[in-house]
Amino acid sequence: MKLLASRETQSADSIVRVGEAVFGDGGFVVMAGPCSVESEEQLMLCAEAVAASGAPLLRGGAFKPRTSPYEFQGLGEEGLRLLARAGERYGLGIVTEVMTEADVPLVADYADLLQVGARNMQNFALLKALGRRGKPVLLKRGPAATLKEWLHAAEYILAEGNPDVILCERGIRGFDNYTRNVCDIAAVPAMQELTHLPVILDPSHATGRRSLVPPLARAAAAVGAAGLLVECHPTPEMAWSDGAQSLTLEEFRALMNTLPCRILKW
Ligand code: PEP
Ligand code: MN
Repeated sequence: MKLLASRETQSADSIVRVGEAVFGDGGFVVMAGPCSVESEEQLMLCAEAVAASGAPLLRGGAFKPRTSPYEFQGLGEEGLRLLARAGERYGLGIVTEVMTEADVPLVADYADLLQVGARNMQNFALLKALGRRGKPVLLKRGPAATLKEWLHAAEYILAEGNPDVILCERGIRGFDNYTRNVCDIAAVPAMQELTHLPVILDPSHATGRRSLVPPLARAAAAVGAAGLLVECHPTPEMAWSDGAQSLTLEEFRALMNTLPCRILKW
C-alpha cells in the first residue's frame, strides 16, 4: 500500500508552516533554546539570543523524558507558561515536547510545534492523538528506528488527517560512546528520497558534544536539511539537563552567522 507520507503519493515537497516559519520551501529554519525550561531568567536569556539571531522558533522542554526517574522531569505546566511568556515577549513560536496522549490538549494550548521525542516515536496512541489534534508535529527518529519505521510513525499522524509533520534526525545508537549517538547525516537526504515531508537535524542530541554541534549544523545545511534543532543555555555547565551538548549563547550567535538561513535555494 502506498503511504500518504511517500514520494510516490506526492512528488512535490510538503510545506509546513509554524507561525512565521516555513519548512520545506528550500529555506533553512533554526529552532533553538534550552533542553529543559529551568527558570524565567534562563529562558528569557535564551529567547533573547534566539530572537536576536533571527531564528523564528524557541524550543524548551517542560515535560522531559529522562533515562532515570530520579532525574529532573521538567517544570510541567509552569514550564509551558514560561515558554508562552518568552514567545510573546520576543515574537518567537514555541516548540516543546508532549510525552503522553493525555497531555496533548494542555501542551497544544501553548505550543506552535508539538515535539514527539525519540523514545516516543512509536507511541502510536500519542501519534494518533496528534494526528487528530491537527497542530504541526516535530517527529524525532527513535534511537534504533529504521527509516521505514520512522516513515510509518509519520504515517500514523498523516492518516488521522494532519499533514503538518516535520521529521527530525537526532542520532542513532552505535557502538562508540565517544559521541552520545551516531549522527546519521545520510538519513536526511535518504528520508527526502522516501518522503515529501521536511527533514531537519538535531546536532545536539546526535553528538552530545558542544564542540561537534557547529560542524554538524553546517553539514545539515550542506545535505539539504530544512533546518535545525539546537540546544543552547546561558550557563551550560549549570544546566539541569544536556549541558555538555548545549552551546553557550555566544556560541549559538556565532553559529547562526555561519548558516545559510536566508538562502532559499542552494
Ligand atoms: C530533547 O529534545 O531535549 C530530547 C529529549 O530529545 P530526544 O527525544 O531526541 O532525546
Ligand atoms: Mn535535550
